[in-house]
Amino acid sequence: MPGGKEKRLEEKIRELILDNGGEIVGFSDIRGYEVAGYEALDTGIAYGVRLSEAIVSQIDRGPTHEYFHHYRTVNRLIDDIGLKVAVLLQRSGYRALPVAASQSINSKAAGAYEGLFSHRMAATLGGLGWIGKNNSLIHPVFGPGLRLGTVLTNAPLKVAQPITASQCGDCSLCVDACPALALSGMDWEAGIPREMILDARACSEHMKHHYQHIGRGAVCGICLAACPYGRT
Ligand code: SF4
Ligand code: SF4
Repeated sequence: MPGGKEKRLEEKIRELILDNGGEIVGFSDIRGYEVAGYEALDTGIAYGVRLSEAIVSQIDRGPTHEYFHHYRTVNRLIDDIGLKVAVLLQRSGYRALPVAASQSINSKAAGAYEGLFSHRMAATLGGLGWIGKNNSLIHPVFGPGLRLGTVLTNAPLKVAQPITASQCGDCSLCVDACPALALSGMDWEAGIPREMILDARACSEHMKHHYQHIGRGAVCGICLAACPYGRT
């Protein structure tokens, strides 16, 4: 950069994500949670794209066609952003693994209904929010109205202070709203297994049996729409 200071890699990544539709970015130390086969990638780049409030606010007793389409469109954007970040990192001399926006890998290591790496964990470790009683990331400003992406890398990025405790307090609106009784109501803290908060099978079975007419039962969103955080 003639006459100026070379931008730090963190700044370049943040700009790339925000310029391409991301809303929040956090850098996290994921040591202890590395993906098997990718042990050298010990830093996470967590980011989120905001969902349309207009669409989410229409979810009441079940998902809408608009929500299903929006969900898939935002997932595509998440994947596009992840790929662009990975290209930038690779051009800068580092390795990068963009984690799929939404992909369940049923393996012994990952467990059922889980992806290669938890976007929510990358986000809490990156200081972006806490896990709500609805098992979503709750950002203090945008609430659960974001979909998340993660890129794992070996680039030496300056990482954030993790968030380790819930701020849901006495609220249980999402728990009460879940028609599958899939949410236990337990307060999240760093390290507790997802099963303590969410019965993933009950959630999935409910969606499959009740929302076949919308996205073949792959989305719901009731517990997301119930949350007061992020509402304007
Ligand atoms: S997505 Fe629907 S079924 Fe699943 S936990 Fe939330 S409200 Fe319950
Ligand atoms: S609805 Fe209430 S309990 Fe559920 S995630 Fe939001 S703040 Fe937490």
